[in-house]
Amino acid sequence: MVRSLRRPKLAVWKFASCDGCQLSLLNCEEELLAIASQMEIAYFLEASRATGRGPYDISLVEGSISTPHDAERIKAVRRISRVLVTIGACATAGGIQALRNFSQVEEWRRLVYARPEYVQTLETSTPVAAHVPVDFELRGCPISKTQLVEVISAFLHGRRPAVPSHSVCMECKRRGTPCVMVARGTPCLGPITQAGCGAICPAYGRGCYGCYGPTETPNPTSLMSWWKGLGVEDGDLVRVLRTFNAGAEAFRAESERREAH
Ligand code: SF4
Ligand code: SF4
Repeated sequence: MVRSLRRPKLAVWKFASCDGCQLSLLNCEEELLAIASQMEIAYFLEASRATGRGPYDISLVEGSISTPHDAERIKAVRRISRVLVTIGACATAGGIQALRNFSQVEEWRRLVYARPEYVQTLETSTPVAAHVPVDFELRGCPISKTQLVEVISAFLHGRRPAVPSHSVCMECKRRGTPCVMVARGTPCLGPITQAGCGAICPAYGRGCYGCYGPTETPNPTSLMSWWKGLGVEDGDLVRVLRTFNAGAEAFRAESERREAH
């Protein structure tokens, strides 16, 4: 059998975002050398102006869809990508910029910009999966570089990535961190937040604020009732659900329910 000597091509695309997730890839450093020996990093403008032509075997997409141009461009990226992986809260949940989804964009545009007629924007900031089929979503704001390397390696070898879908609480138990809600009465989103960070915040005595987005089967209504019992006001319950992952369905729905109270 003749085997192709062509290395698979990797492309990294940016939409509305802060670049933090692309930086996670650059931060991989030693792992990046290993990736580069297995793959051709063909398109990654954050790292190099040199670009190789598509189609690409794996596309990593950072950022949300927030302009009419984005909405067209993501379709073009999908067409030239065999596997498309979204990385980070912006690409998987609309990001901080999804806060606009709860208000009138037109009013903001008029108030913020001196010449609003030059600003083309959509009413909403939405995840990439709302526009094109996505093969895998990697959560986090920013993503974990360990999980990113696992995802790239999994798709290189034709298997599903081993990225957990359980909650941050499981990671607290695993590292022997006492529960900050039970032991200290500190409000924590850990029970409804997806694992991936190693439960960093509770390990330092503070509550999780949900940067990895909702876990697979969250129960935010129950957790917010617990938070109320700890003395958190309704307005703060809405605010805590509206951070990096405000556009994630479970957080969005519960924040709107609480707002309607
Ligand atoms: S998910 Fe967070 S870190 Fe990643 S690009 Fe968006 S704002 Fe930045
Ligand atoms: S906010 Fe939660 S998910 Fe984010 S790093 Fe802290 S513990 Fe982890």
